[in-house]
Order: sequence, then structure tokens, then C-alpha cells
Amino acid sequence: MKNTPETVPKPDVEAWIPFNRPRVVGNEFAYIRDAVERGRLSGDGAWTRKCEAVLSGEMEGARVLLTTSCTHALEMAALLLDIREGDEVIVPSFTFVSTANAFALRGARIVFIDIQPDTFNLNEALLPSLITPRTKAVVPVHYGGVACAIEPILAAAEAAGVAVVEDNAHGLFGRYRGRPLGTFGALSTLSFHETKNVFCGEGGALVVNDRDLIARAEILREKGTDRSRFFRGEVDKYTWVDLGSSYVLSDMLAAFLFAQLEQRERIQAARQRLWHRYRDEVADWAHARGVQLPNVPEGSSSAHHLFHLLMTSLDERQAMIAHLRSRGVQAIFHYVPLHRSAMGEKFGGRPGDCPVAESVSDRIVRLPFYTSMSVSEQTRVIEAVRSF
Ligand SMILES: *Cc1c(COP(=O)(O)O)cnc(C)c1O
Repeated sequence: MKNTPETVPKPDVEAWIPFNRPRVVGNEFAYIRDAVERGRLSGDGAWTRKCEAVLSGEMEGARVLLTTSCTHALEMAALLLDIREGDEVIVPSFTFVSTANAFALRGARIVFIDIQPDTFNLNEALLPSLITPRTKAVVPVHYGGVACAIEPILAAAEAAGVAVVEDNAHGLFGRYRGRPLGTFGALSTLSFHETKNVFCGEGGALVVNDRDLIARAEILREKGTDRSRFFRGEVDKYTWVDLGSSYVLSDMLAAFLFAQLEQRERIQAARQRLWHRYRDEVADWAHARGVQLPNVPEGSSSAHHLFHLLMTSLDERQAMIAHLRSRGVQAIFHYVPLHRSAMGEKFGGRPGDCPVAESVSDRIVRLPFYTSMSVSEQTRVIEAVRSF
């Protein structure tokens, strides 16, 4: 339900400020050229290894496997955990489709959990009551790059023998009490879609924190073969040994991604500045209008993935998006609560099941937020918001 530049005609204004503007930040073209000239365009080449090494360093040494998307990394997680028909997987209702779909593909019954009204992360207090003997996994999303309540989630999962898979699509470089998001669950996933902080168009990664899962993760990602071991010289031929699919990212895209990762400090510093300027500059207006701004609880350091406003009603939200549009600013909303989607209803989702997710979904506005946003562009957005 996102308004993308393709589906919304541009209004007749001189400088349209889009919701997202993916830009190169450094050596992307030079590195892609190198990848092409090496003549190794499939996956697991030199650029893939360089990206995996950087990401492993960011994830306290976990094994990181580049994948074709975060969606595919989540599908790998479902395969690795042997999710099957009749298993239950607990997923926040307020998230992107893939968080749930990856497990539904394996036949799991998706159980929706409501979110917190301030962080929009899953409400950990509801977790124990949703865990049953059939629950296999819980999939927290660190919304906007702000940590979920890690300790109670891990405690409830551990007590019940349930795996934690962090959908960390928003949270790369975010931290909780000093530890990187994505290092808490047995598995976590990253996205390098063009809308994320660091991107290569389409791409992702599976972060394998539980070392017992590494060998099989490599096999699933290589079409169910032991090709990774073959390339390391550990076996003299490779063959079909397990289930799997084609989840390996092209080295050309890894080359692009590495150029982005090299600039990660600059990217994160720019996004932090933009985030704080938005919050500081709209604070008085928001207070006067009863508009809620993002909350970063004590102990969390945000990945600054996005900036949102929470309006007082659906009507106000629609009016704000129209107002910004008339001023040449593209703002969007998300997500349709999954328990209210056509698929979610097949899993028993009913209106009122997750009232906070429903209310937030009606009232949220996401402002333009991208690394290359200039001060003058942001000033225009801020002035447009304050004139509402
Ligand atoms: C972007 C996103 C995904 C999907 O990422 P892809 O790389 O596009 O597959 C999954 N979960 C969340 C929370 C996301 O924001």
C-alpha cells in the first residue's frame, strides 16, 4: 500500500521531494566495473567475501551470508528451523509482508501479536499468552531501527524452547545496551533493498548467530548442495544433499553493496543528523497539535532508518499527506496490519485483534528520509509540516 513514485503522478512543482532517493555514495561504479572485469559475475566472489567480512565484524563475528533479499533470508530461516505444517510462528501485525510470508510458505500458522504504542515494536507483555506447545519461532522487528524489548522476548522464548529470528531489515547499525541489533536471536536477517540505509537495489543477508546452523545454512543457500564446502576444498565434488534454493547474491551487486558499506559511518552520521533535526524542528508544532513523535527508549541507540509522525486520526493523516503533496513533498504510510490483510484473515485475523497496530496504521505518516537529503530539502519538508 506504499505510494511509490511510479504510481503517483508528480505534481507540477519545481523541486519534488520524493519519499526516498537512492544515491551512490562512493565507489559503486568502480567496484562494479572491477567485478565485471574479473569475469566472475555469479555469487560468492571477492566482493561477496568483502561484504560478508564487514557485516560479520558489525555482528560480533557471526557468520553472515549475502542473499538475494531479506525475504529470501527469512525463507532460509524458516527452512533452517524446520518449520512445517501445523507449527505456529508469532509475528507482529505491524510489519512488512515477508516477515510472515516466509514462514507461511513452509505451512506455518501465523499468529499475530500487537505492538507497543510508542515504538511500534511487538508488545512483549503479550508474548507469553500467545506461545503454545506448537509455537516454533517468534520474529521481532526492530521498527525504524529501534530495539524491541530484548530481554523479556528472549526470556519468554527460551522458557518455551522457541527460536527467535530478528527481522533486522530496519536495524543494521542499531544497538541495544551496546550490542548490535541482529545478534540476539539464533538467526537474523538484513535487507539491502533500495529503501534501506545501505543498499544494492535488491539484496539481503542471513546472520547466523547459532553456529550449529552455519553448515546447513550454506547448503540451503546453494540449492541444497555442498558447493560451499567444495569451493573451500573440504570435499572433492559437490552434490545434492538437502533442500535449498538459489539465494546467492550476484558479485556485481555485492560490489555495489561494498561501496555503500565502506561509507557506513558517513551514511549513519547523515541519517542521525536528519533524524534529530526533524525531531527538534517539529517538536513544538507536534506538541501543540497532539502529534506523537518517535520514541527511542533508554538503552537503545537507533539505526535511524525512518522518521514518522503519528497523527491524531485517519482523517488528519490523509489531510497531512495531501497537504505535503500540494507543497511538493511525497509522504507515505505503511503497513496494512497483517491480521487485516486477505492472507491474514485466512489465519484467523479479525478486526480488533491488534488494536494498536490498527490505530497506528491509520495515523502514521512517514516523511521523506534519505541519506543524500540536503538541508534545504529538509527545511522545505519541515516548513510544509509546520504549516499544516
Ligand atoms: C524491507 C523489509 C523486508 C523485505 O526486504 P527485501 O530485501 O525487500 O526482501 C522485510 N522486513 C521488513 C521489516 C522490511 O522493512
